[in-house]
Amino acid sequence: MGRITLNQITKSFGDVQVIPPLDLQIEDGEFVVFVGPSGCGKSTLLRLIAGLEDVTSGAIKIDGRDATEVPPAKRGLAMVFQSYALYPHMSVRKNIAFPLRMAGLDKSAQAAKVEAAAKVLNLTDYLDRRPGQLSGGQRQRVAIGRAIVREPDAFLFDEPLSNLDAALRVNMRLEISELHQSLKTTMVYVTHDQVEAMTMADKIVVLQAGVIEQVGSPLDLYHTPRNRFVAGFIGSPK
Ligand code: ADP
Ligand code: MG
Repeated sequence: MGRITLNQITKSFGDVQVIPPLDLQIEDGEFVVFVGPSGCGKSTLLRLIAGLEDVTSGAIKIDGRDATEVPPAKRGLAMVFQSYALYPHMSVRKNIAFPLRMAGLDKSAQAAKVEAAAKVLNLTDYLDRRPGQLSGGQRQRVAIGRAIVREPDAFLFDEPLSNLDAALRVNMRLEISELHQSLKTTMVYVTHDQVEAMTMADKIVVLQAGVIEQVGSPLDLYHTPRNRFVAGFIGSPK
C-alpha cells in the first residue's frame, strides 16, 4: 500500500516559511507529479514525505499511520535522486544489492532480487561493470534498481532525469512509465519539466512558492487551468 496524506503541513527554515499550510491526498498506485519552477518547494515536499526533513506543523500519514511515529527507513518509501549516488568502487550488482545487504538478507535472496530488478531495467548484461563504465541512462537505471529491490510501497523521484541529455530523457520517461504500469506502485515524481509532467502523470500538482495552484489530470490542467500561472506553466492556450 502507498497511500500518502498530507494534512495542513507547513515547513519553515528559520523564520522563512517555504511551505504554507498544504493539504494533499496521494492514492495507492497513483503516479503523482509535483511540477513548478525552481525553488517552489518540490524537493522540500518530497523530503518531508521521505522523512529526511521534519514538518514544522501538520501531519503526514502513510497508509493511515502517522509518519512521525515511523522512522524514515521503515516508511516503505524509496527515493531516487538526480545525482545517482552510486558507489563508484562497487559493481552494478553490488550497488543494486546494497540496501538488501544492509537489511541482512542472505546472499541467494539478494541475488534473486538483483537479477529480477536487472531484468526489468535491461541491466542484466551490465551487472559486473562499475558505474564509471556505464552511460548516464544506465547509471540512473542502477539507481532505480536499488530502489526496486527494496520493494517499496512508494517511489519518490526527485528530478531523476535532469542530468540526462534530451534523447535519453525521452527514453527514460517511457521506462519509468512502463515500470509504473508493471509494478502499480505509488510514484511521486518531482520535476520542473512540464513535458515530463504532462506525459507521465495520473495527477499533476502545480506548485508556486510552496502553494498548490492546482491539482488535476494532465487533461484537466490543459483544458481548464485555474489561473494564468497554471496555463502558462502547462502551456495551455488560456
Ligand atoms: P525546488 O525543489 O522546487 O527547486 P526546494 O524545495 O529545494 O525547491 O526549495 C524551496 C525553498 O526552500 C527555496 O527557497 C530554498 O532556498 C529553501 N530551502 C530548501 N532547503 C533549505 C534548507 N535546508 N535551509 C534553508 N532553506 C532551504
Ligand atoms: Mg529540487
